[in-house]
Amino acid sequence: MKLPHLDWVNQDSPYLRQHQQGFRALSFDDELEQAFKRYHANVFLRRMRWSLLVATLLALLFVLLDAINLPDPLRGRILALRLAVIQPMLLLAWLATYRPGLRDHLQLIGGIVALLSGLAVAGIIGLARYHNFALPYEGIILVTVFFYFLTGLRFTTAVLCGWLTFFAYLAVELSLGLAGELLLSNALFLALANIIGSVGCYSLEYATRQNFLANGLLQDLAEKDFLTGLLNRRAFSERAERSWRQAQRDKQALGVVMMDVDFFKRYNDHYGHAAGDDALRQVARVIGEHARRPLDCAARYGGEEFVGVWYGLEEAQLLAILQDIRSAIEGLGLTHAHSDAAGVVTLSIGMAYLTPQPHQSLGDALRLADVALYLAKEQGRNRVVGKRQDG
Ligand code: GH3
Ligand code: MG
Ligand code: MG
Repeated sequence: MKLPHLDWVNQDSPYLRQHQQGFRALSFDDELEQAFKRYHANVFLRRMRWSLLVATLLALLFVLLDAINLPDPLRGRILALRLAVIQPMLLLAWLATYRPGLRDHLQLIGGIVALLSGLAVAGIIGLARYHNFALPYEGIILVTVFFYFLTGLRFTTAVLCGWLTFFAYLAVELSLGLAGELLLSNALFLALANIIGSVGCYSLEYATRQNFLANGLLQDLAEKDFLTGLLNRRAFSERAERSWRQAQRDKQALGVVMMDVDFFKRYNDHYGHAAGDDALRQVARVIGEHARRPLDCAARYGGEEFVGVWYGLEEAQLLAILQDIRSAIEGLGLTHAHSDAAGVVTLSIGMAYLTPQPHQSLGDALRLADVALYLAKEQGRNRVVGKRQDG
């Protein structure tokens, strides 16, 4: 698939890395693989639901046909298998798709249902053969095609079910002594159905994986800053507003923080723009590592300015985190011969600490943090200054 403007995606994007690395074996790196499984389960949830419903109805139709067509005692045995095993199993699996708690296990549930259905159909064919009734064996091909293409099973699960059903069928026919020529042709057709199913299912999962990566890449393109990989300003506004509203609802404190690299113009002028970019990347990485909880976020606000929100911490805890950031950046040891603050690249940090009130906005908090940042600059840079606003 051709994706536009990948050069503008931050190079640390896991989606970009995976896209470049390829995924012919239908497997992503760990972190993405977990996310893909959830994505796949959501994308195929409706298909799985519908296919189980259709399978239940089709199975009912076969109950009817068998009730009419089969002789005794074969009829009783096959109907028992259909009504006591296949029908309830399909129905239960269908119900399971409505339970959010089981969403992570739908592949397993779907796989078990597919395999048991395949084995049950092989069993039905075997029973008919045992009673010398010429039941068409093609039902097992139908089942095979059904779970490769319609159930939303991933490749590995579908292939496993398909081939196990194939061998179960073979074992049944061999044990009942089906004539060699007929067995060969039946097995050939079922094997071909499996091969076609495997190829189709592979392409389907490959395309789903491509879509997943494309979605992730587009999201990175829209939300992440190209140079540093931190959130961009637009995405920050969205996330920070979310944390703001949450803090307002839960009456929790919020730290809204502005950060600015000291004497960075001189750094650029002296060491060059490329070195400046590299320094910004390192500064951003340190800041990002300190804002990992779900309602915290850090972003590049523009140029050499960064912004962050920390949720629900005591003021002293937050000040300690910000001091950590400040000292870790000093600790990077990026020589800055023209800084009046230190011999290395440093960061000034302004923090607004408040519990959001109805009459306040995130913009107010950012302005307060900016005032604190201004004070940090004025007091000599490479320091954290906090301003608190109560009520
Ligand atoms: P202060 O300590 O008061 O913050 O001084 P300063 O020099 O950092 O402040 P000023 O705002 O005057 O300069 C910011 C500089 O940051 C200007 C520009 O050279 C540099 N800068 C902004 N964006 C980028 C960027 O994306 N890459 C690089 N390499 N430099 C950038
Ligand atoms: Mg600066
Ligand atoms: Mg600045």
